[in-house]
Amino acid sequence: MILPPAVVVPPTQSSPKVTNCMAEISKPVPSITPDLSEFFEGARNNRLIVQKCEQCARLRFPAYEICSNCRSTRASWVPVSGRGEVFSFNIMHQVYHPGFAAEVPYAVVVIELEEGCKFVSNLVGVKPHEIRCGMPVEVIFEKLSDEVTIPKFRLRAAR
Ligand SMILES: [Zn+2]
Repeated sequence: MILPPAVVVPPTQSSPKVTNCMAEISKPVPSITPDLSEFFEGARNNRLIVQKCEQCARLRFPAYEICSNCRSTRASWVPVSGRGEVFSFNIMHQVYHPGFAAEVPYAVVVIELEEGCKFVSNLVGVKPHEIRCGMPVEVIFEKLSDEVTIPKFRLRAAR
């Protein structure tokens, strides 16, 4: 089989410049729903808290009305260390919201906290292709507004 030679078309001088029309669109900010108000209050005070089942003591996040382990509806919020490790991650190449257009590719990371609860977040200061499962991390807090502060994670020295 004979393939035709590759044809390289040089860019024309008259091509319009591509401008970033999305630069003005900001990222979506989480809504503080009643079931998460305590969580966001903790984050505003630089404390990471998760839900704890009052019957079986299992930790969970995000908040659910019913424990997936024992079906109890009794739960409270408890502070956790904010230390953990990368459990899994996914590198996003697609722009699912225009507010993230300037950041692709970026990583969405599942952190397994020392206390055993998993938490979906971002890893700050590490390029997506350098992220590895098992990396030791610790929480940091990113203030988006007076109402909304979100937990993110950064690398920490392994113990
Ligand atoms: Zn339970």
